[in-house]
Amino acid sequence: MNEQELISTFVGAQHVRRPDVVLGIGDDGAVTQVPTGCELVIVTDTLSEGTHFPKGTPADALGYRCLAVNLSDLAAMGAKPLWASLSLSLPVADSQWISDFTRGFFRLAEEFEVELVGGDTVNGPLVVTVTLHGCVRRGHSISRSGAVAGQRIYVTGWLGEAAAGCRALLNEPVSADGVTKRLVDAFLYPQPRVREALDLVGLATAMIDLSDGLYTDLQRMLDSSSTGAVVDVGRINLSPALRSQSGETEALQLALTGGDDYEICFIVPADRAKGVEEIARAWSCPLVYLGDTTVERGVCWLRSGSKFDMPDTTYEHF
Ligand SMILES: [Mg+2]
Repeated sequence: MNEQELISTFVGAQHVRRPDVVLGIGDDGAVTQVPTGCELVIVTDTLSEGTHFPKGTPADALGYRCLAVNLSDLAAMGAKPLWASLSLSLPVADSQWISDFTRGFFRLAEEFEVELVGGDTVNGPLVVTVTLHGCVRRGHSISRSGAVAGQRIYVTGWLGEAAAGCRALLNEPVSADGVTKRLVDAFLYPQPRVREALDLVGLATAMIDLSDGLYTDLQRMLDSSSTGAVVDVGRINLSPALRSQSGETEALQLALTGGDDYEICFIVPADRAKGVEEIARAWSCPLVYLGDTTVERGVCWLRSGSKFDMPDTTYEHF
């Protein structure tokens, strides 16, 4: 498959046509119209075989995932996704692989009305880079740094499932049983919390998406906000699927340090907490109140009220 055939495959597989795209894929550059009263938010993320995903990852999953991780970053800024560009380094341009990859990519692109406006391909090791543009109403982006002491910390979803799924994918032939499939799918097909994050614009004072695990990412957000926290890990949702594959201690460790969750962790002032919990009832994922921000820096980790010693092992995936 040559470069022209590759571009044609992508163009043919794309059904999203955004009215704000003046000139789309196929020219030297794309031309787009930034919505009136909005600011652009730009994110980029690279997935490299052997570092971010194991060798043998299905092409459909890789196509989905390279967009999902960028949608997750954009969501964490409170931005609405608009346009993507894709840089693909491929060892071989196999037409079946490309067709599976585009199917995964555009499945998610259609769900969030993202138009692919450009890209590039080279021959090389398997590496995928997506740059995604989104918009927020002027002055309404949500950074990591806006929280102050005395506010509430929340996290979405089922932490640890993706890390358990990644391990299952590496260690054993994936059995057809529902539990393993749920965990593996959590790793291969993370659901970016775009809709949920958009609901938080004007409510959350700080937000981050969880790529490296709650333990690391929460501290990053708190450091950016120059605040600390008291957090109870006993409140974290450990799914029945995760519990059935791992003991309680290991499940909690995966939830805190496993990574690849692509959930959102955010902070809201106490007087908005009730309103946020009300809104979250309509979400497709659970929302958990973890604890509160404090003047004292650092995180005080508790488990059901008593001090919790964080396990010092972290997971190296590959
Ligand atoms: Mg991020």
